[in-house]
Amino acid sequence: IKKVMPIPKAHYGGRHTVTLLPGAGIGPELMGYVKEIFKYAGVPVDFEEIDIDPNADNNDDLNYAITSIRRNGVALKGNIETRSKEVGVLSRNVALRNQLDLYVNALHCVSYPGVNSRQKNIDVVIVRQNTEGEYAMLEHESVGGVVESMKVITKSNSERVARYAFEYARRNNRKKVTTIHKANIMKLSDGLFLETSRRVAKDYPEIILNDMIIDNTCMQLVSNPHQFDIMLTTNLYGAIVSNVICGLLGGAGLLAGKNYGDHFTIFEPATRNTGASIAGKNIANPIAMLNAAVDMLRHLGHKNHAVIIQSAINKTINAGIQTKDLGGTATSREVIDNILKCIKTAQS
Ligand code: ADP
Ligand code: MG
Repeated sequence: IKKVMPIPKAHYGGRHTVTLLPGAGIGPELMGYVKEIFKYAGVPVDFEEIDIDPNADNNDDLNYAITSIRRNGVALKGNIETRSKEVGVLSRNVALRNQLDLYVNALHCVSYPGVNSRQKNIDVVIVRQNTEGEYAMLEHESVGGVVESMKVITKSNSERVARYAFEYARRNNRKKVTTIHKANIMKLSDGLFLETSRRVAKDYPEIILNDMIIDNTCMQLVSNPHQFDIMLTTNLYGAIVSNVICGLLGGAGLLAGKNYGDHFTIFEPATRNTGASIAGKNIANPIAMLNAAVDMLRHLGHKNHAVIIQSAINKTINAGIQTKDLGGTATSREVIDNILKCIKTAQS
């Protein structure tokens, strides 16, 4: 585990500076909406915007982004496309999380009553290990036609993420943590993750711990998702589980996720899509990125602004002003205009 000294955070006059990484695809247009709404609602946040060129043959942009996040403590992020298929050209998204040691990805998946989704009344928190496992990006062709890919599970990271899950459960009055794994096959790696969660659970006797194998988990999620409370998972299973739940609740455009370490936090849409094929068409659902921005405001302590924007989002969804992915007919622009209208009404 890398220890990083936090750079003193820039504060003055109650304003915050936040790093903004628009990313590719629909990222820039969604960030445009966030800025528009923040300006309209008088949010005391200034953005330090950094474009990471996915085709650059050096890491200058990435390093600048990392320095900026170390200074500001907080970032709002779209997905960065890593187009190169070359081994050795690492995903910038993964590199950011690893270098900032953001070892937890937390998704609070709550149903919107106003969204016509496959499952209703879901309230599940996914706590995913965010920096190792199958995302170690250590692959090689040992001999021609034989590729090996390393999955790395460490006791220390398994412990940190488990502790986060149980602390979250305790603070938020949650009852149960379910560890998701495949320890029947991957006895050493997933076995360590599972065993560690059992050890950490001993410090939280009021919280139930059970566990479930990833394949059964997917079936259970589709047929009976209400049995889950907090799901604790390794990196790749977490990606799969997140996408299943987001699909059940209304898809890629709705929910937001948080990436936590001990010092820095990155907010982004839950399923981390680029949305290249829908960019620039005024059809992308802006809600997931707006929810990420609201989470960020709460994290920074701007509670009143968070509440105003959150309630404008909820009113807009409940009024049925929804984009095509949710079954509606509204454009991105129409959703934003209605949110602005709700903020105006709230402030007058
Ligand atoms: P990836 O980045 O993993 O390749 P995509 O960008 O292709 O994923 O997104 C997966 C699917 O989700 C696509 O069909 C895309 O159009 C859809 N999608 C992603 N984000 C949004 C959004 N904000 N609004 C509507 N659809 C979205
Ligand atoms: Mg894509």
